[in-house]
Amino acid sequence: MKVAAVIILSLFILNACTKSPTGRSQLAFVSKDKLEKMGTESFEQMKQEQKISEDKELTQFVQCVADAITPNVSKEAHDGDWEVVLFDSPQVNAFALPGGKIGVYTGILEVTENADQLAAIMGHEVAHVIANHSNERLSSNQAAAGVQALASVLLAGQDESTQQYSMAALGVGLQYGVLMPYGRSHETEADIIGQELMAMSGFNPQAAVELWHNMAKANKDAPPEFLSTHPSHDTRIESLNNELIKTTPIYKNAKKSQQCIKPTN
Ligand SMILES: [Zn+2]
Repeated sequence: MKVAAVIILSLFILNACTKSPTGRSQLAFVSKDKLEKMGTESFEQMKQEQKISEDKELTQFVQCVADAITPNVSKEAHDGDWEVVLFDSPQVNAFALPGGKIGVYTGILEVTENADQLAAIMGHEVAHVIANHSNERLSSNQAAAGVQALASVLLAGQDESTQQYSMAALGVGLQYGVLMPYGRSHETEADIIGQELMAMSGFNPQAAVELWHNMAKANKDAPPEFLSTHPSHDTRIESLNNELIKTTPIYKNAKKSQQCIKPTN
């Protein structure tokens, strides 16, 4: 019985291994429906609890950049409309969630000088969704919980906690998953995919490099998603610079139909 359980769990984990867009192996076994539901619910909750900007011009600007980027996201990542909300908060932050949800804080618009730099932010955030990072995070939590639960089964010969562990992993994901910092490999991957996405959408990928220079100068009192994890700014800027060889031609061939202009205040 115990051996069978170990084999089943191992097979399950092996089976759940997929490849991210950059070819990295990832554990991802939460269903797309489930993830989109979680993303949508978290977003609805944030809209209830946080102040939404009433600045029409800024909101239009953010919408304009999102409208240029989201049509270039594969249907596989999200098949349906995208919703973007500008939250009125000094936080230097932004996020994207499964289910086609994008949140931008007015604070980050202080750091982004123009549409290209905002596109770099949005590209990066949407890239987390494209690369299925929240699935990976949840799956790792659940796998860890499963292994832990199995260990307790093997040791004590009782399995009552199995279910509880799984539920805890999901609950924690729902509660803290949205703005929890991503790990270093996720950040690097989102940088690469995001820069490609912005270029494809008609935004100058050079702006991603300029953005991180600005970020490095920005206030670090409340570390946003971008500043809270490694890689360091220097590493990040260097790798984004290296990617320009690939992303600049993509930008040159892209249809530049967007004309998003940051309102001056
Ligand atoms: Zn990120």
